[in-house]
Amino acid sequence: MKFINLTRRTEIGANSYYLEVGERRLVLDSGMHPKFEGEEALPNWKALGDRRLDAIIVSHSHQDHIGTLPVLMRRQPQARVFMTEPTTEIGSVLLHNSVNVMTRQREEFGTTLYPLFTHREADRAADRWQSCALRQAYTLAGERGTGADGDAVTFEFFDAGHVLGSTGILLRAEGQSVFYTGDINFDDQTIMEAAIFPEEKIDVLIMECTRGDRAKPAGWTRAGEERRLAEALEGAFERGACVLIPVFALGKTQEVLAMLYKFRRESRKLSGDFPIYIGGLSSKMTDIYDRRARMTRRQLPRLQLMREVAPFILNDETVRDAPLRAGRVYVLSSGMMIPKTLSHVFARRLIENPQHSIFFVGYANPESPAGLFRDAGTGGEVALDPDKPSQRIRCNIEQFQFSAHATREALIEYAKNISPRKIVLVHGDPPAVELMRDTLAAELPDSEVIVPAPGVEVEL
Ligand SMILES: [Zn+2]
Ligand SMILES: [Zn+2]
Repeated sequence: MKFINLTRRTEIGANSYYLEVGERRLVLDSGMHPKFEGEEALPNWKALGDRRLDAIIVSHSHQDHIGTLPVLMRRQPQARVFMTEPTTEIGSVLLHNSVNVMTRQREEFGTTLYPLFTHREADRAADRWQSCALRQAYTLAGERGTGADGDAVTFEFFDAGHVLGSTGILLRAEGQSVFYTGDINFDDQTIMEAAIFPEEKIDVLIMECTRGDRAKPAGWTRAGEERRLAEALEGAFERGACVLIPVFALGKTQEVLAMLYKFRRESRKLSGDFPIYIGGLSSKMTDIYDRRARMTRRQLPRLQLMREVAPFILNDETVRDAPLRAGRVYVLSSGMMIPKTLSHVFARRLIENPQHSIFFVGYANPESPAGLFRDAGTGGEVALDPDKPSQRIRCNIEQFQFSAHATREALIEYAKNISPRKIVLVHGDPPAVELMRDTLAAELPDSEVIVPAPGVEVEL
């Protein structure tokens, strides 16, 4: 078994991993870096050399896992591509949106490589995706055969509890097994239910470490955190504030909408139908959550967010003069407030106004605008856009823990239950990966813990 980390650094960026099992060559995920542009936004496929892939398997449809898939498919036209059905639906919407974003970036900054692919190519790519059910073993055929020659390689998707369609991927070959977690959550969220992952003996575990360096806050519960958010909203409304919640379009948007739905029903102070705003991409993703609600293992299966929460929809133009008025909640992407996105444009409008609030609810890269903003805090100064002068933060800032990723404790617990021969740590900023390595090495002395250097082949 061989493995190559195809990210350019040890980080959460353009996630992509090469794996050779049995006679099969495959790549797990094909992400786009949220922060960089052009070549730097792509995984480091040069490290693949002249290897021809049999398959590309996608864990879920966040940009950092699927964003460059049409480019990889162009370079590896013979590779078959697998993912779950919800991931095909969401992925297609996301890639078309990405073409629009990249086209704009080309016009504004002259990024000559952009768009990396066209709408037509995104459509053609999606036509070739094969959707797979959860908990069903599929055989991975080689370029020349079916794999029926005794060296069969199979893969199976497991529900990862992270966002709609998200999975961990179990591969079996030659009596060996490898499990790639993708992005996981072992706790229930407001909509998504906790992951159901294999509990059998696994030889190699490739595990994400997003929250690897943060202990779970003492006494934290999701229900308690939801209450805290409801109270913060009540307080903000009483102060005459409007509230911005920067979120990812996929996952966090729908989780926050579901919470707001509950607050309207459960809190007397929030019972009036206070106006909620989301962006166009988020509304398309929310439509997919609604359409698939009864087919999905989830909570609130009857809740139709677009109809019952009835958010107003903003675009690049209307966000510029959307009212900064009391009692309005803006649930806008991107989660990291990347320049030009709705949350970024809106944040610049309310940052210097002490009346209003920004609530952070999930992960943000510490160097992203949202990360800088959060860490500077009220009274600090931040340059949200490197091309524009920095601004003094006068608005109110609050932070909540609604991560869609497993806690550090749950990751360690899972690794201990599986006690694999080798553990490969991926999808984490360096402090998270390093602390996880030290902890796992101490807790699992019989397992080899590997932090794979980018671009270097590792024998598993
Ligand atoms: Zn994700
Ligand atoms: Zn991710």
